[in-house]
Amino acid sequence: MSSWIDTLLDLAFPRLCLMCGKRLAPGERHVCATCLGALPRTNFHLISDNLLEERFRGVIPVERTAALFFYQKGNPSCEIIHRLKYAGKPDIGVYFGALLAREAAPSGFFRDIDLLLPVPLSRKRMRRRGYNQAEQIACGVSQVTGIPLSADSLARLHDNPTQTRRNRQERLANTEGLFGVEHPDRLQGKHILLIDDVVTTGATLRACAEAVCACSDVRISLLALGCTAG
Ligand SMILES: [Zn+2]
Repeated sequence: MSSWIDTLLDLAFPRLCLMCGKRLAPGERHVCATCLGALPRTNFHLISDNLLEERFRGVIPVERTAALFFYQKGNPSCEIIHRLKYAGKPDIGVYFGALLAREAAPSGFFRDIDLLLPVPLSRKRMRRRGYNQAEQIACGVSQVTGIPLSADSLARLHDNPTQTRRNRQERLANTEGLFGVEHPDRLQGKHILLIDDVVTTGATLRACAEAVCACSDVRISLLALGCTAG
């Protein structure tokens, strides 16, 4: 596309940083360079025994974990997840999935991973939203790494009722039997990277991992854009 069209479009519909609201420079996408640099990065891919891994210890054997930033209430970075999920902007997922993949790849994070598995939405929610935000993140990871993604190997059997008012124990019980594996033959013997938008208690990813672990001889790693610190 010729640059004068981009310039005209930018004049008519200025592109703004979704974190600070300032106008984006040509070449910047979704967030400005300053906000991108200021993201509270987790660097989990460089740290074994990190906070995310800890959440799964003793429950599910997890090989590696990565998350782009700490998801802290009130931090402008929450806007990335919020717009991805509720503002009809699936390309935000692709962009930040690819960004995380480029940052994590040099450490060998993707070495011997065979398949990307996004956490599925229920059919009802998929119809309402029009896309699965975790699948969009997985698309970005796949574009950078060349690792195939499978969006139909896992199925969400039902929606979990709103979790906000439940305590940790209740949340865990609430996710039992939430996911089912549709094609176990595709997963057997594979190293699978489960992908979600945000990890809070880890209950959803744990329920996914349990369903996947029912297939024989699988190894599991985890990737999310955001992860709560507590
Ligand atoms: Zn900004």
